[in-house]
Amino acid sequence: MRANQKIGLATVLSMAVILGMAAAAQQPQQTRPAQPPQYQQQPSPIALEKIAANIYQVKGGSGANCGVIIGEKEVMVIDAKMSEESAKQMLAEIAKLSPVPVRVLAFTHSDGDHVNGIAGFPADIKILAQEETKRYMDEAFTDEKQRAYLPLIKTFASGGPEYDLGGRKVQLIHFGPAHTSGDAVIFCPQEKVAFLGDLFFAGRDPLVHRHKNGNSFGLVKVLNSVLQLDAEVFLSGHAEKAARADIKALIKSIEDKQAQIEAMIAEGKSLDEIKKFYKVEDRPASPGRPQFLSLAEVIYLEFMEKQIKLKPKKT
Ligand SMILES: [Zn+2]
Repeated sequence: MRANQKIGLATVLSMAVILGMAAAAQQPQQTRPAQPPQYQQQPSPIALEKIAANIYQVKGGSGANCGVIIGEKEVMVIDAKMSEESAKQMLAEIAKLSPVPVRVLAFTHSDGDHVNGIAGFPADIKILAQEETKRYMDEAFTDEKQRAYLPLIKTFASGGPEYDLGGRKVQLIHFGPAHTSGDAVIFCPQEKVAFLGDLFFAGRDPLVHRHKNGNSFGLVKVLNSVLQLDAEVFLSGHAEKAARADIKALIKSIEDKQAQIEAMIAEGKSLDEIKKFYKVEDRPASPGRPQFLSLAEVIYLEFMEKQIKLKPKKT
């Protein structure tokens, strides 16, 4: 009886040890931190839309549309998606198009939905960006994995370099401050295709980031410069592919709003009245993200600054 009890106790103890070990083995999984939201949500799959011979627009995944230009020696990717995972999925899809390796990453500007997937790119990637864009990325990146790519960024100021991917030339042009102060237009002259990043929006007002020295008058100027390029197809971060007429329509809509707001200011209208007129709703600020102002607010503030500058100095 005692022997049986002993055996029974020993069996129970050893089972407890085994169960304990199993529980311990499971524990790291149970205590693993929750995945960040962008990994939890299932974004739409990456899809490549052919635009011209060896030029594609990348849709789906997380973040803004990206671009792909395939040369004989190198492939250039334009913008990096919003997460490392999404960038890797994009690169896997690009690898199905061509055996030519992705060697260059060019940024249209520094917003997170265009640059945060940088760590999904190969560790020896060449990166091209306007100098202000690199500065904003340096300010925004806190993740060490992302920061490791900063020294790889070759910057340009204005004009911008011409890059040869092998049989395919690409121009990177900074026309001046518009959506941000570091925007680059990436232009393929042979195919007449221009990647505009967030210089173009359709069906909504364009975003002008005052916190990154963007400017609505600058945006009109830059879009007019874009029309000087011998381009027919315009790709952007958040819209369908556009034509010259779409760019002209956007310029007109910004100019109309500028003229309207200038008139309202002359009539003595307040910012609140102008916002009410355009049905601008205040969106609650989210932590770690700057408040995006509406185009009407941006234009109002720009006119106010001009008035302050025009006032004669007190002697
Ligand atoms: Zn943007």
